[in-house]
Amino acid sequence: MSDEPRTVTLPGDRHLTCDTCDNDRFEQHAWKLQTTGMSFMNLDWANRDATCFVCSVCRRIHWFHL
Ligand SMILES: [Zn+2]
Repeated sequence: MSDEPRTVTLPGDRHLTCDTCDNDRFEQHAWKLQTTGMSFMNLDWANRDATCFVCSVCRRIHWFHL
């Protein structure tokens, strides 16, 4: 069910719309940012989950640290 496209409300009560096609339905995914590549780039602050919203129309990925 988590892959069902749905509207997204962001902190601050903002309504997420796609940067590219203005669609407002997204698939939500939690992706690990903890990779050796991240450590190599000294991005240890990023060693946590990212919440990604994939546009159901154009597949653009919008991702957030939530
Ligand atoms: Zn889109």
